[in-house]
Amino acid sequence: MEQTDCVVIGAGVVGLAIARALAVQGREVMVLEAADAIGTGTSSRNSEVIHAGIYYPQGSLKASLCVAGKGLLYDYCAQRGINHSRCGKLIVATCVEQVTQLRAIIGKAAANGVNDLVVLTRAQARALEPQLECVAAVHSPSTGIVDSHALMLALQGDLENAGGIVVLNTPVAQAYCAQDAIVLVANDGTELRARSVVNSAGLHAQALARRFDGLDVRFVPPSHFAKGNYFILSGRSPFNRLIYPVPEAAGLGVHLTVDLGGQAKFGPDVQWVDSPDDLVVEPARGEAFYGEVRKYWPALQDGSLLPGYAGMRPKIQSPDELPKDFLIQGPAVHGVPGLVNLFGIESPGLTSSLAIGNHVARLLGPA
Ligand SMILES: Cc1cc2nc3c(=O)[nH]c(=O)nc-3n(C[C@H](O)[C@H](O)[C@H](O)COP(=O)(O)OP(=O)(O)OC[C@H]3O[C@@H](n4cnc5c(N)ncnc54)[C@H](O)[C@@H]3O)c2cc1C
Repeated sequence: MEQTDCVVIGAGVVGLAIARALAVQGREVMVLEAADAIGTGTSSRNSEVIHAGIYYPQGSLKASLCVAGKGLLYDYCAQRGINHSRCGKLIVATCVEQVTQLRAIIGKAAANGVNDLVVLTRAQARALEPQLECVAAVHSPSTGIVDSHALMLALQGDLENAGGIVVLNTPVAQAYCAQDAIVLVANDGTELRARSVVNSAGLHAQALARRFDGLDVRFVPPSHFAKGNYFILSGRSPFNRLIYPVPEAAGLGVHLTVDLGGQAKFGPDVQWVDSPDDLVVEPARGEAFYGEVRKYWPALQDGSLLPGYAGMRPKIQSPDELPKDFLIQGPAVHGVPGLVNLFGIESPGLTSSLAIGNHVARLLGPA
């Protein structure tokens, strides 16, 4: 049977960041990826926003890993020449009642160590973005955007320079505990022994963990899927900054992001679905976007939103439950030596990826 030191299952941005962190510590690392390329899952179906760390509950992993990850990511992009922009974002109150929500957002951000938010009057906001309609706004100067694929290629490059490898077309079917090791079984029956295993299989992490003989299923949360649909704006972007309404219960509201090529898109919305593969954007959903967007951009023309793409949020709570934190479980939680499971790594997973890599490396301990 083949054997190695560490295996990371899943070559999304989080799996690659974990693999890089372990490899630069001097550990032997192999990434097993089911697809025929890196980053074809949720990591290529998101907004590519570097989040500031504003909305998450104080003390949560989402708050601490986002704030730490943001700093690490800006530094990493600068060092590695990864295309990114610290473009900033405006969170807009479109009625007087929402102004108190803006104040609450500033308080929440400060509790997370994000102290650079500034309240703007309508006139100040419109001086920055003349087409914006609002009562007041909050400016977040440390929000930005990043070329997520270039980031993943850089992470893979670092991993390989440190002696690690990514093995494509290799879905892990199941796993079991053996003497001082975990044995992974591929779809074709091939077995691989590893001292440490990180389950970073994104939308499939729970299904895989349930096929892990030796892990108590009490530690595997349920899987729920919340699709986020995007609609692309035809023509030039009316804004230079990202524009967000005050947040909703399950998402951040129908917001505008601009990619590094200057293309504006609206979304993602929140559509709870049964299957992680349900990624088709139904054109009719765009109708609801017009009303939401016109609250802050009245000049939106009829017929100018085109169905774009969808991403799937790997939720660990059902639609009627409150949002949950990232669930990152090491041996101290579930009792299986050498195993780390990551569940519910939705937004801000991209922003947090480098910090998650360091966090998981700490959970596994020294080589
Ligand atoms: C709509 C949307 C918008 C978002 N916007 C942002 C944003 O702007 N900023 C931000 O910070 N975050 C954002 N996120 C969150 C971010 O995209 C994710 O947190 C991040 O991409 C998760 O990366 P991952 O590596 O955990 O998962 P994935 O990218 O899904 O990677 C998991 C990998 O595991 C592989 N895999 C699955 N099962 C197996 C198996 N059995 N064997 C081997 N391989 C397997 C899959 O093929 C896949 O490549 C957004 C998410 C969504 C859904």
